[in-house]
Amino acid sequence: MSKTKINVGTIWLDGCSGCHMSFLDMDERIVELSQYLNIIYSPYVDAKEIPANIDLFIVEGAISTDHDLEIIQKIRDNSKKILALGDCAITGNISAMKNLAGTEISLEKGYFELADLNKGKYPNKVVPKLLDKVIPLNEAISVDYFVPGCPTPADAIYAVLKGLIDGVEVDTSKYTRFGL
Ligand code: SF4
Repeated sequence: MSKTKINVGTIWLDGCSGCHMSFLDMDERIVELSQYLNIIYSPYVDAKEIPANIDLFIVEGAISTDHDLEIIQKIRDNSKKILALGDCAITGNISAMKNLAGTEISLEKGYFELADLNKGKYPNKVVPKLLDKVIPLNEAISVDYFVPGCPTPADAIYAVLKGLIDGVEVDTSKYTRFGL
């Protein structure tokens, strides 16, 4: 990517927000990067709709619901490049632990056995429908970059973003690995 300012989106799907917290852990380096990055959609800003013509979309978290599927498809349609940030986005990781038990058992546990309020009722309004299986991003869409870690360390996020800005390939194994 060139050193002209690039439009960036970020989102978390089925993740814990830890990878977005790591982004903030870049601290003063965010000021440096902001010369080249225009964050136009993100939990960090107040955009309501996913804009068209995003240069780079950074996605944390796996895909767990029909709503996640709809959103990730729109992100793919509107973005030149997609970066899967963190192990949940890349492998499913903790978000995919539900797959071991299955959706029905997980719902029963949450809404029948362990619920304090509205015990015994499945939500059927507003809450998106869970998919039968939690999947990583690349099972739903094509992904351009994978940056592992749980959470992905701030140094890795900085190195990758700097590399993309400078047009230099970065060896992420120097900064992060799965499960770090
Ligand atoms: S990879 Fe780890 S830190 Fe990132 S969203 Fe998943 S659980 Fe949270």
